[in-house]
Amino acid sequence: MGRCAFSSSRLTAFWPGAIPSSLLAVFTKIPHGLFSVLFPDDCRICNRALTEITRVPVCGECLKQPTPFSAEYFCATCKTPFLNQFPLDENGVCGLCRAGVRGFDAAYCFGAHEGALREMIHLFKYGRMQPLGARLGKMMWSALPVDEAFDVVVPVPLHWRRRWTRGFNQSEVLARYVARRRGIQLVCALTRRRATDSQASLSNPRRRLNVSGAFLAKKSVAGQRVLLVDDVMTTGATASACALALKRAGAKQVTLLTLARVDRRLAGPSARTTLSGVS
Ligand SMILES: [Zn+2]
Ligand SMILES: [Zn+2]
Repeated sequence: MGRCAFSSSRLTAFWPGAIPSSLLAVFTKIPHGLFSVLFPDDCRICNRALTEITRVPVCGECLKQPTPFSAEYFCATCKTPFLNQFPLDENGVCGLCRAGVRGFDAAYCFGAHEGALREMIHLFKYGRMQPLGARLGKMMWSALPVDEAFDVVVPVPLHWRRRWTRGFNQSEVLARYVARRRGIQLVCALTRRRATDSQASLSNPRRRLNVSGAFLAKKSVAGQRVLLVDDVMTTGATASACALALKRAGAKQVTLLTLARVDRRLAGPSARTTLSGVS
């Protein structure tokens, strides 16, 4: 099948000087999702030419790449993977969960925050490619055991300023997908009271300090089993702060569902046990 070799940068390459700058400005202002429908171009992950008209600028091969997370040793509660069993007690629970700083009662995650999945999340969040939300939401949904019951789905909120500059809350898009597939109500029950510093450069204890008290439940979740949704889990500090806010508001149980998590093990994951709950 032939492909329409059009993109905003190629327009001028094909017809140098033929397009008035005013018309070019119209083209460059077309939202990316619509542009992709009209003019497919290269896969944004592997750079191979896209051969089908698609709303998602990622090829079929790259879309198939993300696979469920796996690890030989992991915490029974928060599912953090470890290189060996030494951080785990006789019940298979890690130190942070034993210390009670996690806040959530259980956790599920689809995959490792690396490779094609990491690229797709980046395109979704920073490339304003919202059509990827359904693809990523489906992956996330597949990590949730079918026999676990929840009353509400609550997304981790963005500070209003970040939401305004990004245009959407990526966790809310994912949470909405999961809520619809599971037939559970989506409730934006949490608010971020203050903008927090970027977590990227902070150590684990400083991350917890940075986000502690940053979240507040603005709607009642008293007596409810809450499914808390976030896109990426790094140390879990943000999710823990949200879970603790939900517990303070009376939540009976908080389960964390994330699309991807940072794998801090030095070695690559082994494939004995999946962490996603869909083994
Ligand atoms: Zn590709
Ligand atoms: Zn744990």
